[in-house]
Amino acid sequence: MKSISAKLGKTLRKIKKMFKKRETIKQVEEGNDLAPKFDANGFIPVVTTDVDSGIVLMHAYMNNEALKKTITTKEAHYYSRSRKCLWHKGATSGLIQDVKNIYIDDDQDCIWLNVVVRGKASCHVGYKSCFYREINLESEQLELKFIEDEKIFDPDEVYGDAPNPTIL
Ligand SMILES: [Zn+2]
Repeated sequence: MKSISAKLGKTLRKIKKMFKKRETIKQVEEGNDLAPKFDANGFIPVVTTDVDSGIVLMHAYMNNEALKKTITTKEAHYYSRSRKCLWHKGATSGLIQDVKNIYIDDDQDCIWLNVVVRGKASCHVGYKSCFYREINLESEQLELKFIEDEKIFDPDEVYGDAPNPTIL
């Protein structure tokens, strides 16, 4: 029987090899290799949609570790640029995103997650989607109009004194 540390070592090597080296355009665009491109800061943008409605829930970034954790745990992990740390979505709020599909685009520099949100809301402000407002193109002042009627949860109750991630 293999020791636990040998097993762990094997798992870690497997995760390390999870992403392929980007070698040719044909490989990246037309091949079967997962070869994501992280930008100069080590980030890859992510769009997240709701499995049931198809609406866009949020846009965020992952780093290498966040993408690997998302793949291995099937729960969405991002990189918080405001808090500068790995961000397991829902760890504080309970609004975990269970990942059903992960798509990557043609040049493999953008990720699309399709998720089920536990608790039916995704946005820290309390709405289902972060995109709860629309720019009113009929209004000269381009004022925002709300497209979600009400909050699904009360952020004060859920987050308490935790600092707001929105930075001015
Ligand atoms: Zn939000």
